Amino acid sequence: MAVRTPVYLDHHATTPVDPAVIEIMKAALADHFGNPNSAHAFGWAAAALVDGARRQVAELLGCAPGEIVFTSGATEANNLALKGFAARYDRPGRIVTSNLEHESVSRPLAELAARGWEVVAVACARDGRVRLEDLAEAVTPGTALVSVVAAQNELGTLQPWPEIGDLCRRRGVVFHTDAAQAVGKVPLDVARDGIGLLSLSGHKIYGPKGVGALYVRARGPNVRLCALATGGGQERDLRSGTLNVPGIAGLGAACGLAASRRSADAQRLRRLGRSLLDALRDAIPDVMLNGAAVERLPGSLNLTFPGAPAARLIAKLSVLAVSTGSACSSADGRPSPVLAAIGLDEAARAASLRICLGRDNTAEEVAFAAERIVAAVREVRGEGGAG
Ligand code: PMP
Repeated sequence: MAVRTPVYLDHHATTPVDPAVIEIMKAALADHFGNPNSAHAFGWAAAALVDGARRQVAELLGCAPGEIVFTSGATEANNLALKGFAARYDRPGRIVTSNLEHESVSRPLAELAARGWEVVAVACARDGRVRLEDLAEAVTPGTALVSVVAAQNELGTLQPWPEIGDLCRRRGVVFHTDAAQAVGKVPLDVARDGIGLLSLSGHKIYGPKGVGALYVRARGPNVRLCALATGGGQERDLRSGTLNVPGIAGLGAACGLAASRRSADAQRLRRLGRSLLDALRDAIPDVMLNGAAVERLPGSLNLTFPGAPAARLIAKLSVLAVSTGSACSSADGRPSPVLAAIGLDEAARAASLRICLGRDNTAEEVAFAAERIVAAVREVRGEGGAG
């Protein structure tokens, strides 16, 4: 079967919207334009959609619907979690984080540090995972919050969040995790995993862009936040603004799909990812997988091709949508601090590609991608007789 190009292999940057999600959103846009705050039939219909979506998100996370705050995405959820948490304190305290965080966590934390908070970033090991013992040492008495990403967006590595949650539970510290890349892809349960605050995003799970959510634990013990946006008092006064009903309906549908498909999708993506890596290793024995081999998101690879700068590879790979490092920081061409954090030198960082398979990728597409990447690496390296 012929492969349709370009082949999309950049699912950490964003995912295509699932056709079932599009249908739900179309209906929401066309038929349910009411303001969910309005006390009439149009408002009630819109509110029912929002309620349904809230239940779907909550079910995926294992929490109560009332613990979900809809936001404009994971960036806003992270900002609300961190700045909203800090704002409840009269005096700045201590926050422990990692050196693997997305900028929507590290920048708010830098702002808090500038306001006097003691922010300690624990360095990951060379496998792109934070060690629990390093975190345990950093979480000194008086630490107010721990914020560690669940699945790292550049490397695809999974952090030990259930163990971090357990540590936080025992020490009486609130645990926030940026789970934008983890939700719907790996088993995650906020109650079991000791999570107090969790950020997620619609467009990473085959839902729409511009919508996400923050889980805020209501019990055992509850986590209290100050709102960043105040006004109409929506979302239990934590996030004012008329709700994005079509976006929220789409996010709910995406969470529903993720709940039913997660395990089968993960199995398939793991297999496809392994076959891609095997094919590349067969042809390019010195290719390096960056980050832990096992504890990673299914179908997610960050690879270094020594002697083949990624910019030159990408120029030859217009039939594939792959990226160098993180899509968020690749636009300005800054080198990836995460690849430096796992010990890659400048040349290796510049020769790294991120390939993230997704739900719709086929075995044929993966074989095609392997063939094209091998040819591109050989060409860039000036090795003749590629084929
Ligand atoms: N956190 C992580 C780990 C991410 O990968 C991203 C998206 N690149 C975000 C946060 C930001 O999410 P959003 O686009 O929904 O603001």
